[in-house]
Amino acid sequence: MKHLIGFTGYEQFCAGQDVTSCASMTEKLAQYKVYSVLDYANEHATSAIDYDHNAAVVLETIEAAKNNSAYPFAVVKPSAIGFFKLYQKMGAGHKLTTSEQLIWTAMQQRFEQLAAAAAQAAVVLMIDAEESWIQDGVDLLVLPLLVKYNCDKIVVALTIQLYLKDRNLVFKRLLKDADEKGYVLGVKLVRGAYMEKERSRAAALKISAPVCETKDATDVQYRDALQNAMQVLNRHFCIVATHNQSDINWVVDYCFKNNIPLGNANLWFSQLYGMRDYISFSLAEQGANVFKYVPFGPLEQAVPYLIRRALENSAMKSQTLQECMMLKKELQRRKING
Ligand SMILES: Cc1cc2nc3c(=O)[nH]c(=O)nc-3n(C[C@H](O)[C@H](O)[C@H](O)COP(=O)(O)OP(=O)(O)OC[C@H]3O[C@@H](n4cnc5c(N)ncnc54)[C@H](O)[C@@H]3O)c2cc1C
Repeated sequence: MKHLIGFTGYEQFCAGQDVTSCASMTEKLAQYKVYSVLDYANEHATSAIDYDHNAAVVLETIEAAKNNSAYPFAVVKPSAIGFFKLYQKMGAGHKLTTSEQLIWTAMQQRFEQLAAAAAQAAVVLMIDAEESWIQDGVDLLVLPLLVKYNCDKIVVALTIQLYLKDRNLVFKRLLKDADEKGYVLGVKLVRGAYMEKERSRAAALKISAPVCETKDATDVQYRDALQNAMQVLNRHFCIVATHNQSDINWVVDYCFKNNIPLGNANLWFSQLYGMRDYISFSLAEQGANVFKYVPFGPLEQAVPYLIRRALENSAMKSQTLQECMMLKKELQRRKING
């Protein structure tokens, strides 16, 4: 098993098998003002027992975050606490059978339980985004929680995937809704991690893919979203979740030019554990709010997550040299500063 752990990259991308075993790593990060969110790496569970178990583990992370500044956030993946097919069916506007309705109610209750616990623990609960074809169903369960819990401060934050062509429209609609109903909108802005899956599904169904045709188009959308988010930072909350140096520089410059403190409480930066550490540390040193997404869980369950990270890392090979140089620079800087 130890050999397998090394082989899969488990140690690079996961901090431990359970909440307790992550503590030594997350405490070390917190010494450098790089905070953590414990991300239970268990995707696409398939039974009510799994969903209850996963929700219980997320509750455990919320409990660990209570009164512990190392963990300002908690996170949940919708597919870890509810039936994928039901999100899809509800999102498509189909009617549920009586037994499906019971399952849907249980899904709703898991979200409600997590949001209530996050509110009580004064932790922000982030809802990850997954495949586009379940998002409408997920929204049916999550959007009401924003109205209920984000009255005067942020408790629940959504994820917006900017590789999807329509997401800036959706973002603007959400901002309008938040202003009309008087809640704080919290968004985690990401490009999106399911591109190949989105494209092959669209090809199989002979529909046009919802994902931007080119990386440049995704980049333009991401920058537009950053611009929208920065303009409303006085009322709303944004997590800049990217490893893209040029976007991060853009946000830092924006703050500088507009006299916004980089450590504004409504602005957080986040990178994945094991990726682009020099970006996270350098942001923290400049006074920005930063956290790492720290996956944990048994190896067998973490495999889909590890596969996505491995694919992503191989797609970013060109940046490896740059990363080595930045790490070298950071080490030299630390040597000089003692
Ligand atoms: C803290 C954090 C939380 C995250 N949470 C989520 C989440 O909830 N849901 C989720 O889906 N992802 C999530 N991600 C992953 C994220 O969506 C990206 O896959 C990953 O961060 C790489 O994008 P980048 O902006 O860091 O880097 P970049 O290297 O600038 O961008 C790579 C991304 O660009 C897009 N892209 C690449 N090639 C093309 C192309 N040919 N056409 C169109 N677009 C292209 C893809 O989205 C690819 O992942 C998260 C990432 C972080 C850092």
